[in-house]
Amino acid sequence: MIRGARAWGADAPGDLLVREGRIAATGAALQVPEAAEVIDAAGCLLLPGLVDAHAHLDKTLWGEPWRPHQAGPTLLDKILHERQVLQQLQLSARQQSARLLRHLVARGTTHIRTHVDIAPDIGLTGLHGVLATREAHRGRVDLQIVAFPQMGVMTRPGTLDLLEQAVREGAEVLGGLDPMGIDRDPRGQLDGLFDIAARLGCELDVHLHDRGELGAVTIEMIAERTRALGLQGRVAISHAFCLGMLEPARLDELIALLVRDDIAIMTHAPSGLTPFPPVRRLHDAGVRLFSGSDGVRDTWGPLNNGDMLERAYLIAYRNGFRHDADLDLALSMCTHGGAQRLGAAAYGLQPGCTADLVLLRAETAGEAVVMHPVREWVIKRGRVVARGGKCLWPEA
Ligand SMILES: [Zn+2]
Repeated sequence: MIRGARAWGADAPGDLLVREGRIAATGAALQVPEAAEVIDAAGCLLLPGLVDAHAHLDKTLWGEPWRPHQAGPTLLDKILHERQVLQQLQLSARQQSARLLRHLVARGTTHIRTHVDIAPDIGLTGLHGVLATREAHRGRVDLQIVAFPQMGVMTRPGTLDLLEQAVREGAEVLGGLDPMGIDRDPRGQLDGLFDIAARLGCELDVHLHDRGELGAVTIEMIAERTRALGLQGRVAISHAFCLGMLEPARLDELIALLVRDDIAIMTHAPSGLTPFPPVRRLHDAGVRLFSGSDGVRDTWGPLNNGDMLERAYLIAYRNGFRHDADLDLALSMCTHGGAQRLGAAAYGLQPGCTADLVLLRAETAGEAVVMHPVREWVIKRGRVVARGGKCLWPEA
């Protein structure tokens, strides 16, 4: 029984009863069943569990000594530098993913979509590590895996077969990476990925950093294949920087395609002057949006910290949001938007929903986004998994 918390969007505090992992009832002054555990949450805001729908758990350096940033400025610099560092360090994907997962849960995340590196030189090592972590932490967090070709697809022969194998071994989603910028063969990469997705019935989530028209044409090619194969609602594009740098008429054309084929867009509101999709504009047009931390404590950059409430703040900050409705939109990308993408059944705060909940000291969602205070209680399927910002299970 959670007493006296104000649920997101509610006018007044109330009670919420959890039974067998689900929300059994909500209302004012509910009767406490005998033997119920009572959480006194007066002064707290109640949110559904946060959703980190774009993570890279397998290659974080979390738990290792702080490593000053050393990669060069281009995308390819970062890819090659990362591979070099990871080869040197020889960390285990199982251990690293478990370390970061624990931190994410302590920050209120109850659902994660993680992109796992797949490449000919490392094969499925990363996947096997993350699968082991998923098994070991079942019930503490929901983990969905994307088979991600970080080194490219067509430029690394054998990658498509490995991606297909990864899906057969438990990855739910197929990833991609800049079909033009990295592979310089957009037809080859996209036809290969869509062929696997159509045959195995998995979703797609393609990293697209390519800017301007290069990115725009790639989105057209993704939409074309989504429609041809009847994969509407099963495709996402991560980053899509290009959407933040097009002329209004060109942006309208692409938005029409995204809506027509129900293609979702992930943005984590990148740092610096990196362009990114205009969140309010896309949402109002009907494009599904979600967010994630992206790489945390890795060789790509030191700024991401795995806090999805702070991520909502960064989305709000970079979009220049001020109104409560806009702060709500930023938070919804880090909750409902991601849950929808992950296919999380019964997600939310209504009776009947799975009891994946976060309690923190704030009056409204707007205040929670701006202050991103300590997560006092994190509850997964009705069980408290973190308290006062700390995970309740020991580090393995
Ligand atoms: Zn990423």
